[in-house]
Amino acid sequence: MTKQQTVAIVGGGVAGLGAALGLMDHGFAGRVVLIESETELGQRGSRRAAGALRRAGRADAEAELAERAFAHWRALEKRFSVDVGIRQGGVLLVGSSAEHVADLREKHARAGRGGGATRLLEREEIRGLMPWIRHDVELGLLSPEDGQVDPALATQQVAKLVRSHGRVEIRSGAAVTGIEQRAGRWRLALAGGEPIESDWLILAAGAAAPRILESAGLTLPVMSAKVVTLRSAPVEPRFAQFFQDWDAQLFLRQNVRGELQFGCLGQDLIRVDDGVSDREAALVLEAFRHSLPGLGEPRVVDSWAGIIDESRDRLPIIGSIDGADRLLVAAGWSGHGFLLGPYVGDLIARQVMTGEPDPILMPFAPARFSYSPSTSNVDA
Ligand SMILES: Cc1cc2nc3c(=O)[nH]c(=O)nc-3n(C[C@H](O)[C@H](O)[C@H](O)COP(=O)(O)OP(=O)(O)OC[C@H]3O[C@@H](n4cnc5c(N)ncnc54)[C@H](O)[C@@H]3O)c2cc1C
Repeated sequence: MTKQQTVAIVGGGVAGLGAALGLMDHGFAGRVVLIESETELGQRGSRRAAGALRRAGRADAEAELAERAFAHWRALEKRFSVDVGIRQGGVLLVGSSAEHVADLREKHARAGRGGGATRLLEREEIRGLMPWIRHDVELGLLSPEDGQVDPALATQQVAKLVRSHGRVEIRSGAAVTGIEQRAGRWRLALAGGEPIESDWLILAAGAAAPRILESAGLTLPVMSAKVVTLRSAPVEPRFAQFFQDWDAQLFLRQNVRGELQFGCLGQDLIRVDDGVSDREAALVLEAFRHSLPGLGEPRVVDSWAGIIDESRDRLPIIGSIDGADRLLVAAGWSGHGFLLGPYVGDLIARQVMTGEPDPILMPFAPARFSYSPSTSNVDA
């Protein structure tokens, strides 16, 4: 790698920032340009995430990656200037339907093969941890070593580390409208600005990645799913677990200020956009009341929507794409990208510098989705 090499990173969420930080930390000597369409970094998926850092019960292909990604967050945390709320208070998943109970049991079996210890909990044990829960809950899966983070604070701190190196050119408020490769170099068209040329292109644009790839005739099989989140005023009592009720499609955590942050992804949230309608907020509150009837009515003070970029097998899509030289994509996170993003960014940075992907990334190669045009991609 010579000094003249330029790496362009599209996307200033935790994945793109992780890649920029990796290049700096590993001594990349060339030019690094990070392009972000919003005026501030990390305002899309990263700031809007629920904040679970769950390793246990991940798919076999993802278990080791999740483990390493968790350790990476712990190492980053030591470099942050503020507490970003990383707590290992456990993750508790619960369900009642036959399908969800079977899934929890399967996750428990999988956890035995790696990705952290788990315990199956019967109804009374669940109520011991969450006395407010609905009476018909059937089974719980607790991973006591897992935990949570404040996504907004943590993203800000990763951005601060990137800036502290003083060598990453950050172009915020600049949307990439198209990419093309000419004579071995990438050319990125920017809305209202001069194009950027680079030797390498790291595409970490979250839910927007497929659209950007399309401009170069490349496809990424990713679907978008909307999640609506509500935040309440602080409440008592305090609890430590990140909680997810699969029947109610609800997640809940209590942040370090005592506020409840809860939301859900449901088939009724069909408008894939940024807004939160009254109906959508009402659906989230309904799920909350149904799942945790004993917790009382939360006083909602804020709400937001986020888009999850979901791949067909619900595993992230990481690596080079056939037909595109020196392009590395990190997308299709399927809701696990906050945990994985910074570490995967770091691995991608190393790949740019060495030319070789880390073997742990092999199962996530985009090539696994090679399919004939007649193949349906409707089911996930
Ligand atoms: C509601 C919700 C809950 C989630 N909960 C969790 C969780 O509990 N645990 C977990 O691990 N993960 C969770 N995730 C997933 C996680 O937030 C993301 O996968 C993760 O933040 C990955 O970040 P990213 O950098 O790929 O994406 P993003 O943070 O979305 O960053 C992509 C960036 O690219 C920018 N961009 C887009 N288009 C362009 C363009 N044309 N030009 C320039 N820039 C562009 C965007 O503005 C954005 O800043 C959740 C996601 C959502 C939405």
